[in-house]
Amino acid sequence: MDLSYILNELGEDREQWLNAVSPPIFQTSIFCFDSVAALREGLADELETPFYSRGHNPTVTVLRRKMAALEGAEDALVFASGSAAVAAAVLGTVASGDHVVCVRKPYGWTGKLLESMLPGYGVETTFVDATETGAVEAALTERTRLIFLESPNSITFEMQDLEAIAAMARERGITTICDNSYATPLLQRPIELGVDMVVHSATKYLNGHSDVVAGVLCADRDRIRRIFEGPYMTLGGICGPFDAWLLLRGLRTLPVRLERIGRTTREVIEHLASHPRIRRIHYPQHPGHGQRELADRQLAGGNGLFSVEVDCPDLAALERFVDSLECFLIACSWGGYESLVYPMAGLLDSENYQKSRELPWNLVRFSIGLEEPSALIRDLDRALGAIE
Ligand SMILES: *Cc1c(COP(=O)(O)O)cnc(C)c1O
Repeated sequence: MDLSYILNELGEDREQWLNAVSPPIFQTSIFCFDSVAALREGLADELETPFYSRGHNPTVTVLRRKMAALEGAEDALVFASGSAAVAAAVLGTVASGDHVVCVRKPYGWTGKLLESMLPGYGVETTFVDATETGAVEAALTERTRLIFLESPNSITFEMQDLEAIAAMARERGITTICDNSYATPLLQRPIELGVDMVVHSATKYLNGHSDVVAGVLCADRDRIRRIFEGPYMTLGGICGPFDAWLLLRGLRTLPVRLERIGRTTREVIEHLASHPRIRRIHYPQHPGHGQRELADRQLAGGNGLFSVEVDCPDLAALERFVDSLECFLIACSWGGYESLVYPMAGLLDSENYQKSRELPWNLVRFSIGLEEPSALIRDLDRALGAIE
């Protein structure tokens, strides 16, 4: 299926909607029926029938169809957040007594779910450095039901060989989930590599405008139905119609945004690589990354997220650098039209950071937006000058 067909046409029943080019926002909680028989029919399939908006909403369904097609999946579900999608995928897979293997340094709230919440329900997790497939294999027990992957992660961008791990898991009847928020389906399609389920924080590139929090889960029809009838409907972490509409609007420009952001990021990184104040650059496509071969094989390109270790005498100098930036807003998240900076130095007091202690204090993450590359480079140069 053509990318432009998916983004512009798929799932848009325009003739049903007075030929409106942009789909209507079905801001309704309920749909009514002509007869008891019709009501009964509606209740028979809440996933596909407009009945109650916790289950099916036509605006949300347009997005659902597009995301499934983009990931090469049979179906998808849209959630109120990426974390809701992650939790639904995990809870729909494991039960008391099961064991999970998860990559080290997953997204913080994914880690919290597996490490802090699930043990209370009888599910234990082992976190492994999954850059080597053998380490994942070594962590499996006879109780392992799920392998949770995030490739690359969103801080230091370690990757997993998705095809190798998925094949190994499938042989043993273990389910695999991959958080694909970083790459988006444009740069990486885990389901085609054999992964069972893909989850997304749609808050990042998919929406791309820093105005919606949402998530997506893509999988085969059976899994989606099982999760729909389980955690989706019971926990109710659904995406409202207006947020779905905003997401559709954002999604239409994903290819042009990523192309521009990728190009600008290459320029910025090339410049920073030769700057004396930049000690190390973490970016899958950067020569120093260490998994460059896997990046070239598994990712169709780079996006705008990278981090650097700054050569800084102390915390105050690092703060001077970050505070001096004018084109980069100091904020969490990433993937929007606007450039952001997120220094680990801001997390030093947080519980999660204290626990991990894996990230150097001088690590600073950048998310490149749609600004002119020259303006960003000038700003970085000027701010790096403030370290002295
Ligand atoms: C942001 C993020 C999430 C969580 O998504 P929300 O939309 O914030 O709930 C999950 N995984 C990754 C990699 C993320 O960056």
